[in-house]
Amino acid sequence: MANVNQHFLELQGSYLFSEIAKRRTKFIQDHPEAELISLGIGDVTRSLPDAVINAMHEAVDELADSGSFRGYGPEQGYDFLIQAIIDGDYKTRGVSLDTNEVFVSDGSKCDVGNIQEIFSQDSIVAVQDPVYPVYVDTNVMAGRAGTFNSATNRYDNITYLSCNADNDFKPAQPTSRVDLIYLCYPNNPTGMTLTRAELEQWVQYAKANNSIILYDSAYEAYIQEEDVPHTIYEIEGAKEVAIEFRSFSKTAGFTGVRCAYTVVPRELKAKDANGQEVLVNDLWNRRHTTKFNGVSYVTQRGAAAIYSPEGREQIATLVDYYMTNAAIIRDGLKSLGLQVYGGVNAPYIWLKTPNGLDSWAFFDKLLSEAHIVGTPGVGFGQSGQGYFRLTAFGSRENTERAVERIRKLSL
Ligand SMILES: *Cc1c(COP(=O)(O)O)cnc(C)c1O
Repeated sequence: MANVNQHFLELQGSYLFSEIAKRRTKFIQDHPEAELISLGIGDVTRSLPDAVINAMHEAVDELADSGSFRGYGPEQGYDFLIQAIIDGDYKTRGVSLDTNEVFVSDGSKCDVGNIQEIFSQDSIVAVQDPVYPVYVDTNVMAGRAGTFNSATNRYDNITYLSCNADNDFKPAQPTSRVDLIYLCYPNNPTGMTLTRAELEQWVQYAKANNSIILYDSAYEAYIQEEDVPHTIYEIEGAKEVAIEFRSFSKTAGFTGVRCAYTVVPRELKAKDANGQEVLVNDLWNRRHTTKFNGVSYVTQRGAAAIYSPEGREQIATLVDYYMTNAAIIRDGLKSLGLQVYGGVNAPYIWLKTPNGLDSWAFFDKLLSEAHIVGTPGVGFGQSGQGYFRLTAFGSRENTERAVERIRKLSL
């Protein structure tokens, strides 16, 4: 028999969503008449914008004709999309990028999961806690996380940056040096953001410590407030220390269509075993072109259409719809005296569970008394204990009904 990669056996079961499904199924069996509302999922529900649909239809027609047919495209993405990204998402923010600094892919989950491959096995990794599980699990698979300690609910070799109400969900910088820092803003699951000045401090930390920031900005489109940076490269010097991940999933309803991109500036350097400087961009380019064969032409045409005037207007409408839901949840829960975070620059509302209930006890209460499914905060990490996540991705009607039901609970 062959040996398996032992590191995979250090992974903890995806306890969170399987446990939610289990409790939900049991509740439905016991109460078949109950109308459940799910505010737990991190998936969008509104259909694709017209501009995207039209562009995709046209692209399909092009493929139907041998004269305009396209086979394999560039692994890094077509120039028409890369240029639209550079002009639409960066030039508008005063950031210039070259076309070889943008890598189009089929999702940010893959990109944030794969990026660790190009860094040394002994890299020290820091993550926010609570956290999007992909960052941790992919480092576990690579053997960087050490063993899981069930008493602390944490891996021995990962540096966890606690985010809680006391620090306004803005983690303190690591007290000992780390190589890689995953930051997610606007944050999933807490919905919180950093100001420009606060992000500047992270860039300074990375410069002072020769660290690299892996900046996941999947929810950039939801930013409403002025002082929240739209890209880490708005911060001076960030190109020397940061990789940025963006996705069309939450921006334009692409969770099923699949398209995202990663920016790896040519200024970003790391060192090899002999201490010689290596351009991180060269390594990512090599990795991407070796292991990935490009996003479909039809999808890239759809993504590029987001940057047209109609496309921009339509995604603004989409984001408005979800952010109105977010305000309904946020204001509704606040008026009940609950402590509520997020929901201002992100489609997630993070609440402190009332009366000191732990995350799962509140999950059960909400399910059994209000027939609402949410996500227990502790599922995202130990610092999420005593918190709970609701999402704004539902329909308006369900969002309003859910808040009415919560209003009737005795909390
Ligand atoms: C949804 C999400 C993504 C995007 O994933 P895709 O693979 O592009 O759909 C990335 N990071 C976080 C934190 C997310 O919540």
